[in-house]
Amino acid sequence: MFKKPRGTRDFTPEEMQKRKYVEECMRSTFGSFGYKEIQTPMFENLELFTAKSGEGIIQEIYSFMDKGGRDLALRPELTAPVMRFYVDKLQMEPKPLKLFYFGNCFRYDRPQKGRYREFRQAGCEIIGVDTPEAYAELIAMAYTLLKNVGLKNIKLNIGNLNILSSMFNVLNLPKDKQKCLVPLIDKSLSEDVLSALQDFGIKPQEATSFLEILQTTDIKKISGYIKSDQTALDELSKLEQILNLLRDSFDIKNYEVKISIVRGLDYYKGIVFEIDAPSLGAEKQLCGGGAYELISLFGGKETPTAGFAIGFDRTILALEAEEYQFPAPKIDVYVIPVNEDMTGKALEIARTLRERGISVDVDLLKRGIGKSLKYASSINAEKAIIVGLNELKEDSMTIRDMSSGEQKIVNINDYPLAGQRI
Ligand code: AMP
Repeated sequence: MFKKPRGTRDFTPEEMQKRKYVEECMRSTFGSFGYKEIQTPMFENLELFTAKSGEGIIQEIYSFMDKGGRDLALRPELTAPVMRFYVDKLQMEPKPLKLFYFGNCFRYDRPQKGRYREFRQAGCEIIGVDTPEAYAELIAMAYTLLKNVGLKNIKLNIGNLNILSSMFNVLNLPKDKQKCLVPLIDKSLSEDVLSALQDFGIKPQEATSFLEILQTTDIKKISGYIKSDQTALDELSKLEQILNLLRDSFDIKNYEVKISIVRGLDYYKGIVFEIDAPSLGAEKQLCGGGAYELISLFGGKETPTAGFAIGFDRTILALEAEEYQFPAPKIDVYVIPVNEDMTGKALEIARTLRERGISVDVDLLKRGIGKSLKYASSINAEKAIIVGLNELKEDSMTIRDMSSGEQKIVNINDYPLAGQRI
């Protein structure tokens, strides 16, 4: 017996039904915000990802050489491919350019619940605008996407890397020491942040107030800390505008300022945000994004860009944790020929109904009415159509409502009746 590779999953028809439902729901939400769908290849030249994230990324991804000696990699994320596509083909498009996509990503991660080696992301990028309104709309869209699929309990955190950077300046912390601190801040390891700061020669009192500001949700306190750093103050007022827009124009109130959000990435600049599903425990982060600079690195003309990625698999896990009632898989009609002679006619009726936009399955096992009706309920058929000789003489068929058991005879040409779906 063969086993599937570690960290990968197969999906049953029921699971696919859930996944398709969530994907369609997200697709229509993206569309409602004026975003257009694109697609990029599943694998790229390896150098695309090393250019963005450094050589270290090779340890974390699936990279390989093809038969022509090219170094390739299965994509671990979609922002770099989308930026490559933009620089190659889309730079002249009118701005702002709003793009969204779905795609499977591959990472050599340690598999656990909510963390896989092959997983799906839904994501988007907005290119050519850096106003607070654009960022507020982007964050609101991420929140709405998750709300619209049916999630109730989600938490939005918003930070700003320029503010964090000016907090480092208050301490006169050189870049290499900032780099050591960032992963500790990212993982909210407060004690470790404190002791690292003290190791760097920062006085205990200064280290404690730095940590306090990292943890506060109060913009006034942050502003008091960074004092006269004009760039940081500008960023703070931008952040305040975004929060006001979220509250007033998008009616989103469930958010917090969290300066400790660093996204652990070098190319993010300014605003960053994350959305969590607290029900998921350790792997609770559903969405991460923000403003970033990558276009010039990929050879294009630098333009403001922002985007986010939503973990599709974790969204489904979070819905399941909230016991969300997904629509059950169903079929409109199951057609049952009463005997073998009627099979040809049953297939013909099925074809006609499919042409009328109805989903139809037909008994192909010739197993009689009783067993066929049982099967029809097991596949959640809404109606069963029984095709018998007597009715056929008059171009009619018996239609059974599977939930009430009610039966009636209907002329084939009149089905479905005007104004009815089936
Ligand atoms: P990232 O590109 O690392 O910011 O990831 C964006 C989102 O993708 C995260 O918030 C997660 O929801 C999801 N994600 C990242 N890595 C994995 C993984 N290995 N398995 C499942 N989902 C993941």
